Amino acid sequence: MHHTTREFDYVVIGGGTAGCVIASRLTENPDVTVAVIEGGPSDVGRDDVLTLRRWMGLLGGELDYDYPTTEQPRGNSHIRHSRARVLGGCSSHNTLIAFKPLPSDWDEWEAAGATGWGAEAMETYYARLKNNIVAVDEKDRNAIARDFVDAAQAALGVPRVEGFNKKPFHEGVGFFDLAYHPENNKRSSASVAYLHPVMDERANLTILLETWAYKLELNGTRAEGVHVRTKDGEEILVRARREVVLCAGAVDSPRLLLHSGIGPRADLEKLGIPVVHDLPGVGENLLDHPESVIVWETHGPIPDNSAMDSDAGLFVRRDPHHAGPDLMFHFYQIPFTDNPERLGYERPPHGVSMTPNIPKPRSKGRLYLTSADPSVKPALDFRYFTDEDDYDARTLVDGIRIAREIARTEPLAGWLKREVCPGPDVTGDEELSEYARRVAHTVYHPAGTCKMGAADDGLAVVDPELRIRGLEGIRVADASVFPTMTAVNPMIAVLMVGEKAAELIGGES
Ligand SMILES: Cc1cc2nc3c(=O)[nH]c(=O)nc-3n(C[C@H](O)[C@H](O)[C@H](O)COP(=O)(O)OP(=O)(O)OC[C@H]3O[C@@H](n4cnc5c(N)ncnc54)[C@H](O)[C@@H]3O)c2cc1C
Repeated sequence: MHHTTREFDYVVIGGGTAGCVIASRLTENPDVTVAVIEGGPSDVGRDDVLTLRRWMGLLGGELDYDYPTTEQPRGNSHIRHSRARVLGGCSSHNTLIAFKPLPSDWDEWEAAGATGWGAEAMETYYARLKNNIVAVDEKDRNAIARDFVDAAQAALGVPRVEGFNKKPFHEGVGFFDLAYHPENNKRSSASVAYLHPVMDERANLTILLETWAYKLELNGTRAEGVHVRTKDGEEILVRARREVVLCAGAVDSPRLLLHSGIGPRADLEKLGIPVVHDLPGVGENLLDHPESVIVWETHGPIPDNSAMDSDAGLFVRRDPHHAGPDLMFHFYQIPFTDNPERLGYERPPHGVSMTPNIPKPRSKGRLYLTSADPSVKPALDFRYFTDEDDYDARTLVDGIRIAREIARTEPLAGWLKREVCPGPDVTGDEELSEYARRVAHTVYHPAGTCKMGAADDGLAVVDPELRIRGLEGIRVADASVFPTMTAVNPMIAVLMVGEKAAELIGGES
């Protein structure tokens, strides 16, 4: 096999949500060269990717790495975790719901050992974001979603929120802010906002598309580059004069570290992977936002207008002492019965769904390898609903009951013909819990598998400057560095990790 070597100042592995921000920021300095290694193709000119409302069409398709979960004895073992294989990463596939993390989210990070990541310090990175973050446009506000907002406000007495990012909140209902362009429903993803305007002009930026990074090049404890394979099978050693920045996401960043011999010693030895650096936290602390679903049939068709079919949401705080909301709902203008159908429920011709979601789940999982072959997908064991107090499952049960209260309230009630699933006869705690867990789904927020933490935290993988502990010349910057889950949807937090990472890296050059 012919090996080529190429050399750059910085090598960014993964042109995804955080990777696009970092590559764009670092190449603002014309004296610095950057290579981006991206497993997928470009999103430029691809309407199937760039049109926000087509997001569901990408699930499970050729641009989806599509990771299965391990058997979940207390949850749904059929969940597939979509991860986008395209420039922009999951920001080129997701629904672009854009929440500035709550101050309590950042303060929780700082308390967990992420010094310098408190709410006040993080403000500046939100202000830097280049994405077009706007409220769901009037023309995209569907009549039934508006009536959901009014009914939730009337039923629960929560405030109506116009602009969730204007100030911190504990509860409220309203239309989301999205990172999109309402005039043509196009994404304002990380690639659109950060790379498209500069990628043809900057001679110091090289993007290697459809190129897969499979092993880090290490010299002792110093990361010197990465071994990659192009679509045509060419092997290249991409060297970093200054630093390697790992941005492959919460699944593929720990996966690449493990295949490079960086991770829990016993696990690596069992698979015959030579241990370079014993780092027990790699793959641990696998977080997500699980949610369940309750579906109604409507009397007739629903108007068609929408930004992406789940444009409004609700936050509730059941426990007045909880920092921030402790229960969240997405409202879907479609009958989302994919999981209930497995239990025998049928999809109604027209319908809507509410999805109770756990902002701060207590169950934590783990990602690990099952083979030394880098082409074998890693195992994702989320350990859904395994927390000691059964907090996670109880949250979903509360959620179904609250959703029913809203459905009984006008102006939403008049639209609804019947509850399809779980169905009005399912009312007991046990039955509701069983249903809620078996149809549980993910909103695709895996995080935490290379968590940031203090020097005395044995499971921290990176320090508060995102440097991998015990190694030189390599940082991680993506959703895997989250010490804890944000109460809100995480993409903006990931973009802010990118902005802060770029500053930390640039500051040392
Ligand atoms: C369907 C869906 C809907 C979502 N909806 C929302 C939402 O509305 N709001 C919200 O806040 N969050 C949402 N999320 C979550 C959010 O999109 C992610 O948390 C975030 O984008 C993760 O960013 P990242 O930089 O960590 O990883 P990614 O964006 O996944 O980037 C990783 C990149 O690395 C590349 N890569 C991986 N491994 C390799 C390798 N070995 N070699 C080369 N390249 C590699 C990938 O191709 C990818 O481009 C959603 C996610 C999905 C999938």
